[in-house]
Amino acid sequence: MPVRQWDPASKAKIVLEGLKGKPETAICKRHRIKPAEYRRWRKEFLAKVASSFVSPRRPSREGDERSKALRVAQDLIEVLPIPVFFKARDGRHLGANKAWEAYFGVRRESFIGKTVEELFSQAPEVAAKHRAVDEELWRNPGARSYELQVPVRDGSVRHTLNYKATFTGADGEVAGLIGTIIDITERKRAEQRQAIEHRVSRILSESETVAAAMPGILAAFCESLGWACGARWSMDPKIGAFGCEEAWSVDDPDIATFLAASRQSNYQPGHAGFIRRVLGTGQPVWIVDVSADDSFLRGAQAAKAGLRSAFALPIRLGDQVLGAMEFFHRERRLPDEWLLETGVTIGNQIGHFMARVQAERELREGEARFRSLTALSSDWYWEQDEHFRITSMSSRFLERTGIDPALYIGRKRWEQPALNLTESDWERHRAQLERHEPFFDFEIERPGPDGTSVWLSLSGEAVFDEGRRFRGYRGVGTDVTDRKRAQGVLRAAYEELARSNAELQQFAYVASHDLQEPLRMIGSYTQLLERRYGDRLDKDAREFMSFIVDGATRMKQLIEDLLAYSRVGTRGKEMRPVQAQAFLDKALVNLRAAVEQSGAAVTHDSLPEVNADDTQLAQLLQNLVANAIKFRKRNEAPRIHVGVEDAGDEWRFSVADNGIGIEPQYFERIFLVFQRLHTQDEYPGTGIGLAICRKVVERHRGRIWVESVYGEGSRFHFTLPKIQKGET
Ligand code: ADP
Repeated sequence: MPVRQWDPASKAKIVLEGLKGKPETAICKRHRIKPAEYRRWRKEFLAKVASSFVSPRRPSREGDERSKALRVAQDLIEVLPIPVFFKARDGRHLGANKAWEAYFGVRRESFIGKTVEELFSQAPEVAAKHRAVDEELWRNPGARSYELQVPVRDGSVRHTLNYKATFTGADGEVAGLIGTIIDITERKRAEQRQAIEHRVSRILSESETVAAAMPGILAAFCESLGWACGARWSMDPKIGAFGCEEAWSVDDPDIATFLAASRQSNYQPGHAGFIRRVLGTGQPVWIVDVSADDSFLRGAQAAKAGLRSAFALPIRLGDQVLGAMEFFHRERRLPDEWLLETGVTIGNQIGHFMARVQAERELREGEARFRSLTALSSDWYWEQDEHFRITSMSSRFLERTGIDPALYIGRKRWEQPALNLTESDWERHRAQLERHEPFFDFEIERPGPDGTSVWLSLSGEAVFDEGRRFRGYRGVGTDVTDRKRAQGVLRAAYEELARSNAELQQFAYVASHDLQEPLRMIGSYTQLLERRYGDRLDKDAREFMSFIVDGATRMKQLIEDLLAYSRVGTRGKEMRPVQAQAFLDKALVNLRAAVEQSGAAVTHDSLPEVNADDTQLAQLLQNLVANAIKFRKRNEAPRIHVGVEDAGDEWRFSVADNGIGIEPQYFERIFLVFQRLHTQDEYPGTGIGLAICRKVVERHRGRIWVESVYGEGSRFHFTLPKIQKGET
């Protein structure tokens, strides 16, 4: 194969491919040249280009062809997108291309002739590193590459990969070096961010609380990025204030003092401030110079601790701001989007962690609550699967009922005998479960262990998984055997009471009814005796006879009253809405003679419609007004007022008089059958009127009572429930 002859322009092009970053092996393979050959070309090329930058252009001694190639190379370097510079053996810069100017933000005129120390006067450590590599190259000519962080014009710091190679002059001696700079900031940052996130993830996974994790996270952040200190702030909604929780700093007593001061005070939301803004907006805040920012309350203290720039970021969970982190740098730092983004990502990581810790704590608490609930309750807990088979029952079931739960586990509720439920009861229960409805107090009577039965009351609700898929039922059960038995006893007692009451009513009725007949006989035969044999009887006998007649008359009255009393219960009519006013009017008509004779003045409010047995209502009002007339004072005409008041659910009636009044010890007794406070001679009566009143009122679901000042008058009250809407 003929060996290819390379012209200088082609060689220059190939070397430039390498300078643009293409790997040497790829170049050699493509152009089928040996690496040693390529390196030789690069050396020649750099030396030529460099010396042409160094020395003013002059006609080439080596002919037109070569000077043309050199020009091509120079032009190419000028427009090359990577920064290229040249330095003389004395360390002073000779020149640079356009990309270099753009990268550093400096015109080349202002830099030619300067040393690295002069160029990087703000960053002596950068100058020192460059200088060291240069010295090394002067000693051992060749090529070197190294990474370095350099500050550029806009104040930001870039990660660079520096490549330098020496070139020789016409005399074959090392005359200077040519260098290129590849900006690897993006890659470096991606690596750094990944490393920080990784470290944070590890710390979080190993920590149980955010308080335990924070110092490590703050340290990871500060150490990887060169910041001096950091702290976490959290909002305490209970006290409505936020405070500094954990902090980390480089070893520096002044910074430690500053952080300690931060941790001592609580800040109220509403003050101007750095953290408040982050908590309020959920957005990061950057302060270039802490001492120059009025809104930063701790600015003076931070400056005193030697801190300069600061930024703070939210710790968030979705839209919720759970807290903030702040970081301080000793030097002036301009807002750095990348840094903020990284910080916000970490803030989110912490936010998720906090939410998880919180959820886990709530879960633990919920479980503890459930455990104590089941341990302390006399009820048991049960679960059913999606086929309604009982899957578990807490131990309380056996303890309470004595029934072996094994009988039920794995079975459906209706597969076991229930003494109180029919097939259609079960059908209804099953349908409810099929609809996934909750059920309450579903009562089942089960055969108990010792031949008796056990009453269970079950309540349950359907359970669904995250996908809203039906998973079964769960609920509680309680042993209601005692209640059921007590209810049975109570019902029996009630029935017995109702029966004996009815019997008594019947007895009173029959007795009083049947007593009337022999009494009439006594009365009529005594009268007959008097008529036929009166003239043959002496004065004493006639007097005795009149006592018998009186006694019989009184007894007749008593029996009639007793009959009337017993009829209140047995002969009552249905309740219907009636105008109470009409029945008061009727009662007053019946009492007209007594009213006129006593000179009574009866006044009344206008009475409402009530739900009542009209005959009994008339009797009630008549008895009360009649008493008010009867028990008047000897020397004063009765003044009687029938009133009514609206008392919410009921009407409160009253019949007030200015009569003789009642002593308080009799307030209860007067409502009993045949109880009276006076003799027949003083005030006639049988003592049954108020007993009837009470029975009537109670039948109407009301109450009756009296208020009185002895010697001044009485006021009888009774209530009647109001007519409810829809009641007829
Ligand atoms: P009677 O009127 O037949 O005596 P009641 O049952 O109506 O029977 O009344 C019982 C007792 O209550 C009366 O004997 C009387 O002592 C007392 N009493 C009832 N109403 C009044 C009243 N308005 N003023 C004073 N005492 C009364």
